[in-house]
Amino acid sequence: MNVMNVDLHCHSTVSDGLLTPAAVVERAKANGVDLLALTDHDEIGGLDEARTTAEALGIRFVNGTEISVSWGDDQTVHIVGLNFDHRHPELVAGLGRVRGGRDARAGRIAAELAKVGIDDAYAGALRHAGNPALISRSHFARYIVERGFARDVKTVFDHWLAKGKPGYVSHPWAELAEALGWIKAAGGVAVIAHPGRYRLTPAERRELFVAFKEMGGQGIEVISGSHTDTEVREFAGIAREFDFLVSRASDFHGPGESYIDLGRMAALPPDLKTVWAEWL
Ligand code: AMP
Ligand code: MN
Ligand code: MN
Ligand code: MN
Repeated sequence: MNVMNVDLHCHSTVSDGLLTPAAVVERAKANGVDLLALTDHDEIGGLDEARTTAEALGIRFVNGTEISVSWGDDQTVHIVGLNFDHRHPELVAGLGRVRGGRDARAGRIAAELAKVGIDDAYAGALRHAGNPALISRSHFARYIVERGFARDVKTVFDHWLAKGKPGYVSHPWAELAEALGWIKAAGGVAVIAHPGRYRLTPAERRELFVAFKEMGGQGIEVISGSHTDTEVREFAGIAREFDFLVSRASDFHGPGESYIDLGRMAALPPDLKTVWAEWL
């Protein structure tokens, strides 16, 4: 059967990816992706460049973003918005507000890292950020690797940046209802990103799905670069139970720094209804 190769989650230098928006689209094309969304964290600044490149290369493109949301007791969940009007004022203002907190947060992360002997981390992380408005933990991780404190970014998260580690600071992101409201106002579809990655108990995870559904959320990433086969089966079951549309997502950040390359994920179980079915 000839299934479309769809990848609706990846990052560029406009957030914490390693490739420019144009280079992401070129790589997706080379990997055989037919339909792509660029989903930079709390950002839409790369969408015009990505779309222009996609049109030139003959690959289908939809707008995307991955919104940081505070959930429960100091948890962060990510909500992907897809196929929206990226000029809609409510979405533009909402994302601007979420991004606006990142610079001060970076200052607090740097202060915590200094206490454990990692100096100059604010300036160092900023040098790795392609977009000064979007300084993220990934940029700190790259700086810490560059300084020789760890061999790769994964190790940096394990030792310094993950929740509970010395360089972690708590931060208020968007509320779930706000993020869903912005996506809806701009005509898009909201999707729960990589549900397997949250450190939630099964009961807490279910609470997230219930709240998301009640607030009008429609989709879930069943295939994600970070999901095991067991997780794929689990979230396919959740999609059937909650009647969610399903998405397929690499969460690609760059060569050598990702679970999987653009478009190289497994296929979705064929009985599920895809988020993109109505766009084609
Ligand atoms: P931030 O939005 O600044 O909190 O940064 C979150 C980003 O850090 C995620 O989107 C991932 O790209 C990256 N990240 C989070 N946890 C890990 C991890 N354990 N290993 C590698 N990268 C991670
Ligand atoms: Mn990221
Ligand atoms: Mn994410
Ligand atoms: Mn992502």
